[in-house]
Formats: sequence, structure tokens, C-alpha cells
Amino acid sequence: MKIAIPVETDEAEPRVAATPETVKRLVGLGADIVVQAGAGLASGIRDAEFEAAGAKLAPTAKDTVASADVVLKVRRPTPDEFADYKSGALVIAIMDPYGNEAALKAMAEAGLVSFAMELMPRITRAQVMDVLSSQANLAGYRAVIDGAAEYGRAMPMMMTAAGTVPAAKVFVMGAGVAGLQAIATARRLGAVVTATDVRPAAKEQVESLGAKFIAVEDDEFKQAETSGGYAKEMSKEYQAKQAALVAAHIAKQDIVITTALIPGRPAPKLVSKEMVESMKQGSVVVDLAVERGGNCELSEPGAVVVHEGVKIVGHNNVPGRLAATASALYAKNLFAFVETLVDKAAKALAVKWDDELVKATCLTKDGAVVHPSFSPKHA
Ligand code: NAD
Repeated sequence: MKIAIPVETDEAEPRVAATPETVKRLVGLGADIVVQAGAGLASGIRDAEFEAAGAKLAPTAKDTVASADVVLKVRRPTPDEFADYKSGALVIAIMDPYGNEAALKAMAEAGLVSFAMELMPRITRAQVMDVLSSQANLAGYRAVIDGAAEYGRAMPMMMTAAGTVPAAKVFVMGAGVAGLQAIATARRLGAVVTATDVRPAAKEQVESLGAKFIAVEDDEFKQAETSGGYAKEMSKEYQAKQAALVAAHIAKQDIVITTALIPGRPAPKLVSKEMVESMKQGSVVVDLAVERGGNCELSEPGAVVVHEGVKIVGHNNVPGRLAATASALYAKNLFAFVETLVDKAAKALAVKWDDELVKATCLTKDGAVVHPSFSPKHA
């Protein structure tokens, strides 16, 4: 059983799919590990550390993946990359499948058995494999650090001989994993924090972190959660009522952090141009949803836009801005999943096709797109 970890080819991707710790554990499962030279550098891991953990180093991507049974990646491989994978290889990554059906078809036609880590069901057994949580938690933390760095004032209240500095007001929109971590981080920095979400369950979580919950709590709100615990797309009427409440609130905020997402849908637009214009000079909006269309009308992927003195921060790949930590957690998520695909006694791959984790994440197999949400039959 050969497991390969190539360099991520996307220049905007500093994370890596294995760490010395997970290499050791994969070796413990009976695997031969090949890491491409330099794969860990952007995450602060030297080649020698991978070697010391039991990996072999390969000079090129081609040498790394040649005859590999499993390829571990952060991002979905491009056709150029998987041209060198053997047919039938398992490829496990954050596949970004929504809207990318052609790329999935290409992987299927190349004979790859691909798994999307972000489709892992949110059940207790799979918590350790939950990449959305492990990465969103870091993004929420980093959003506050980025927001505080762009904000030209202090976050906590300070009473000094030269006068009193007021605490910054931080408003977090979307109180899922990223939002809750943003709330906790902003509170630790001394900000006065409020938050909103469309899921009623979020209210108690927000309050338990010491922040105030702001939302229109009507009948629609009370039922606005799917059985999977995700947000539903809200009606136009609800969105209008909520926007009016939020508009009045945003005008008084110093830093707004938006994290609102709906799986498989464009991010809801929550902060309009007018709302940005209502904010004070020097205020900051950090849009964590920028790669999914953005929660703020004015945000641009990969840019800090300044509009009438308000900065709108739209960094791409925010977990990658904490690459060492993000890789460490992502690699552990991957290891936990790989462990379920291996027969430990035989030290060989033994994928249980009827396992709900496999069924939920497997995108392509036997030359076809097999996932019910992405297969042509479904479309
Ligand atoms: P997400 O990344 O899909 O979305 C972020 C947040 O935005 C969510 O809380 C969502 O409700 C909110 N949102 C969507 N539209 C909005 C709007 N118009 N206005 C305001 N907020 C809006 O969510 P997530 O971080 O993945 O978390 C979703 C849920 O899953 C949470 O309840 C979380 O606690 C739960 N969860 C469960 C597990 C588990 O059981 N293993 C693991 C992680 C998360």
C-alpha cells in the first residue's frame, strides 16, 4: 500500500496533506509513504522531518505519485497532475465539487476513485475527519486577527493617564464554526461582541460565549435549520426584515466579520454598499465568504478594498494564512479517514463501500461520477 503526498500545485495553497506526525501513523498502518521534496516547506515542515518520520522523498510529482494506491492532497488535482496517477488510485482532498461537475467527470474518466473530505457527514464518528470544522475554526480566529490589524485603533477598552480608549464593537454574521471562533477571539481581545445567524440553535451558543444575539426571531427563523444542522436559504421577506435590523446595527460597528454560508449555494449577500457607507471611517469588514461569492457586496477575492474610508478585507484561503496549524489539523482529519479504509491486520486497503462515510464522500468510481448530488442522473 503506497501513499503519496505531492506538492500542492496551486500557488495560493501553502497547506500540505501530511505532517511528520501523520506520516508516522500512516507507516504504522503498514503503508509506504512517498512525499515530494518541498511539500511541507510552506507549512514550516522540512523534508528531513518527513524522512525522519519514515517517508521516502521523491524529487518530482511524477516520481511521487507513480504507482501510488492513495494520493493525499489539499486541493482537487488538475488533469495535468492526475495524468500521472495510476488508474484506480484513491485520491482524497478538499474537492470543491459544487459547480465543478466537468472536473469531476474528468477524474472519473481517468479512473480515479475520488473522495471529497468536505462532504463528510457531521456524525459523531466522523467529527475527527471534519475538515470544514478544523479549517473554519482557524479562519474564524484569523479573521479577527486580520480585522484587528487593519483597524487603526485598539480593540480593548483602555483606561490610561492620557485618557480612556473605548472597546471596539465587533459584529459577527453567521455563528457556525468560524463565527463562534471569531466571537471567542474578539472577546479575548476585549471587544464588545454581537452576532447574528439564521439558525435558532446559534442564539444560545452566541450567548454562552458572552456575545449578544441580534436577529429577527419570527416563525420562519424558528424552523430555519436542516436536519444536518446547516442553514436553509431564507425567504425574500425574512431577508428584508433581517437586513433592516442589521442595517441599523452595522452603522454602529467598528469591525464586521461575515462567515455566512449555505452548502452548495452562493453565499448570501448580507452587507450592502449602503451598509458599508453607513459605517464610520476606519471601520473594517472581513468577508470570510469571499471565495463563495461574498457576504459583502463590495468584497473582492484576494483584495483589501477601501470604500469611503471603510476597508473590506477579502483574503482567499484564510486557513492557509495559518498554514502550519491548518496543515496539522487537516492532516489529522485525513489520517482518521484513511484509517477507516485500511484493513489493519492485512495492512492493505479494504474500502467498505457500504460505509456511510465512504458513501457520503465518494465522488467518482469505476469510470463514473457516482455521488448522488453530482452524478449526471441527478442533474
Ligand atoms: P457554514 O459554514 O455552512 O455557515 C456558517 C454559518 O452561517 C452557519 O451558522 C449558518 O447558519 C450561517 N448563515 C447562513 N445564512 C445566513 C444568513 N443569511 N444570515 C446569517 N447567518 C447565516 O456552517 P458551519 O460552521 O459548518 O456550521 C453549521 C452547523 O453545523 C452548526 O450548527 C455547527 O455547530 C454544526 N456542526 C456540527 C458538527 C458535528 O456535529 N460534527 C461539526 C461542525 C459543525
